[in-house]
Amino acid sequence: MNDTNLQMWKRAVKVIPGGVNSPVRSFVSVGGTPYFVQRAKGAYVYDLNGRRYIDYVQSYGASILGHADSRVTVAVSRAAELGTTYGAPTEGEVLLAEEVVERVRSVEMVRLVSSGTEATMTALRLARGVTGRNKVVKFDGCYHGHSDQLLASAGSGVASLGLAGSVGVSANAVSDTLVVPYNQVPVLDDETACVIVEPVAANMGLIPPQEGFLSGLRRECDRVGALLIFDEVITGFRVAKGGVSDLFDVDADLYCFGKVMGGGLPIGALAGRSEIMRQLAPTGPVYQAGTLSGNPVATAAGLTVLRALDENSYSMLEGRSKYLAEGLEKVISEAGFDVQIHRFGPLLSIFFGDLTVTDYLSAKKSVALGAYPYFFHAMLQRGVALAPGPYEVMFPSLAHSWDDIELSVDLASAAANQAF
Ligand code: PLP
Repeated sequence: MNDTNLQMWKRAVKVIPGGVNSPVRSFVSVGGTPYFVQRAKGAYVYDLNGRRYIDYVQSYGASILGHADSRVTVAVSRAAELGTTYGAPTEGEVLLAEEVVERVRSVEMVRLVSSGTEATMTALRLARGVTGRNKVVKFDGCYHGHSDQLLASAGSGVASLGLAGSVGVSANAVSDTLVVPYNQVPVLDDETACVIVEPVAANMGLIPPQEGFLSGLRRECDRVGALLIFDEVITGFRVAKGGVSDLFDVDADLYCFGKVMGGGLPIGALAGRSEIMRQLAPTGPVYQAGTLSGNPVATAAGLTVLRALDENSYSMLEGRSKYLAEGLEKVISEAGFDVQIHRFGPLLSIFFGDLTVTDYLSAKKSVALGAYPYFFHAMLQRGVALAPGPYEVMFPSLAHSWDDIELSVDLASAAANQAF
C-alpha cells in the first residue's frame, strides 16, 4: 500500500464508516486497505499514486463498455448542459423504456428507478399487490440489494462479512421471506406472492442455473399463481441482448435491471407485462415514486450504452471472456492448485478447491479454504484489480483488449506461483 492511498484511507475512516460507501469496496475480507481511484479509462483504473490496474471490477458490472467511454461521456455532458433533473417527464425516459421493451421479449412496460435495490424492493411490493399474498421466496446466496425483506441469506458483501443478514432488520420484516437452496425448485403453496431469483447467480461467485431450474420455477409459479421475478441487475444486457430469457427460453413476470442500463450512472428499472405494470401508481394502487427517477443524465448514458451493444459486442465479450477463463484455470492449476473458473458469458468467478459448486453451501466451502485473499493481493501487486471479496465475480468489459486479457493471464500465472 503506497502512502497516498494510505493517507486517504486514514482520512476516510474518520468521516465515512469503514472508509467506504458500500461494504463490498472495503478490504475487510481480503485484508489490507483499499486503493483509492483517481481516474479510470477503458479497461484501467488509476489510483492516487497514478498506479494503473487492469480492472475487472468495472463498478461491479456497471461499465460494460469500459470506463469513461467517449460515447457515454459526450452524451452525459450534453445531457447535463440541458439540466440535470427536472421532476417532469422527458423524451429520454421514453426512449430508454422503448429500448428495453424492444430488447426483452416479454417486457411491455418499464418503470425507471435509481438503483437495483429500488427495483427489487418495488418488484416485491407489486407482486404482493397483484396477487394479494405476502410470502416471498428467495434463494440462499442470491443478493437483491439491501431492502429489509431481502436481506436474508444474501450473497455479495453480506456473505463476505460473514453475516446471515443485518442487525436492524426486524424479525417481522423477514417473516414472509422464505430462503431456499439455489438450483432446487421449491414446492410452493398458494400463499406465495412471488419467487425472486438471480437467473444466473453472480453474488455467491458465479453459479449458472442447472438444466431445468428456471423452467421448473416458471412451472411451479404458474401452478400456484405466484409471480416469477428475474433479478437481472447483473445479467441484464450483459449476457445477451435481451438478457437471460434470450438464452434459457423462460420468461419471468417481472424483471429488475440496473448497472449496465445506467452506463455508470445511478439507475434501476422494473419491467414486465402491461397488465402487471399498470398496477403501479398512478394507474394502479401499488405506490412507488422517486425524485430522481428517470434522471435525464442517467437515461442519456444508459441509452448510449444500450444502443452501442449489438450482437457483435456480445460475441466479442464471449470470445475474450472464454479465453480469460480458460487461461486463468490453466495457469492457476499449473501452479499446483485445485481451481475451477465458472463462467457465463462475460461473468467469471474463481472457486478454489476440488469440489463442485452449485449453490451457496458449496460456494462457502470453497471460500473457507481461504485461498482467494492471497490470489487477490498477488494480482493487485501485479496491477490487476479483482473485487476485494471472494463472492464477487469478474466483469471483463468491451474495453479489455486481447493484449489486456493475455497480460492478465500471464500475471495470474506469476501471482498463482507466488501466492501458493
Ligand atoms: N440485484 C443484484 C443481482 C445485484 O447484484 C445488486 C447489486 O449488486 C442489486 C440487486 C442491488 O443493486 P444496487 O446496488 O444498484 O442497489
